[in-house]
Amino acid sequence: TTKALAGKVAVVTGAGSGIGKASAIRFAQEGARVAVLELTSDTAQETKREIEQAGGEALVLECDVSDPESVRRAIGEVGAAWGRIDVVFANAGINGAAAPIETMEIEDWNKTLETNLRGTFATVKYAIPFLKKEGGSVVITSSINGNRDFSGTGFAAYSSSKAGQVAFAKMAALELGRYKIRVNVICPGAIDTNIGKNTFPSDDLQEIAIPVEYPEGSHPLKGKPGKPEEVAKLVLFLASDESSHVSGTEIYVDGAESLL
Ligand code: NAD
Repeated sequence: TTKALAGKVAVVTGAGSGIGKASAIRFAQEGARVAVLELTSDTAQETKREIEQAGGEALVLECDVSDPESVRRAIGEVGAAWGRIDVVFANAGINGAAAPIETMEIEDWNKTLETNLRGTFATVKYAIPFLKKEGGSVVITSSINGNRDFSGTGFAAYSSSKAGQVAFAKMAALELGRYKIRVNVICPGAIDTNIGKNTFPSDDLQEIAIPVEYPEGSHPLKGKPGKPEEVAKLVLFLASDESSHVSGTEIYVDGAESLL
């Protein structure tokens, strides 16, 4: 049987950890050559090592998605190396600073929006000239937070960036359909990754904390967060031709958590 992404080139941002890493590996297992875009190369090199162990091919590129010029350069290098881009997974993101709106620093707001929302825009923007050639698939990682679920007080910046990504994905799907480029956005619930390490709660966050009561066993499907590999299965579906008529859609991958 032919692999789902045989002959394709995929770009994955934030591919050194969590959802991006699991998806990069999955893409490679399905035959894609994978560009691993990450802030620093050590984690990216580990992803590359695992891809090669699975018999795949990877290219590590240092890239800060909050810096549009860095994104332009990295995507240009993928094009120069492999001559095509078929799949873009705009996934890099941070929780960033969590604080009451009243005391949230402007720089902290900017950092979150520049990474999550403007970073997504830059990633898609600079990939379009390559995607246009033969059509392709863009997948964007948003969150349940900011779309169905608003339970994390202090996350006004994060939630705004994540909601913005959904609107951006829909506009992009409309605009890029003529080039046979599909665009979809995924909204994960809690997933077991390293993202908590880049959450910075302010000292006064407690003042606005709203207690969230979850029923016994908490998570509706299995009582615990999902795994990055479970998200990767959805990303693969959206990246591949199995979803050939799916575009402009937001898909929740949260085991019904956002319905609590
Ligand atoms: P993670 O921290 O394990 O991985 C994210 C990766 O992105 C890291 O390797 C990090 O270095 C990289 N990154 C951060 N800023 C970057 C930048 N400016 N440029 C390039 N790379 C950068 O976290 P994850 O959970 O795998 O997060 C991936 C995406 O999933 C994020 O967009 C996040 O908002 C979203 N998400 C995660 C959860 C969850 O519970 N883990 C839930 C909903 C949505």
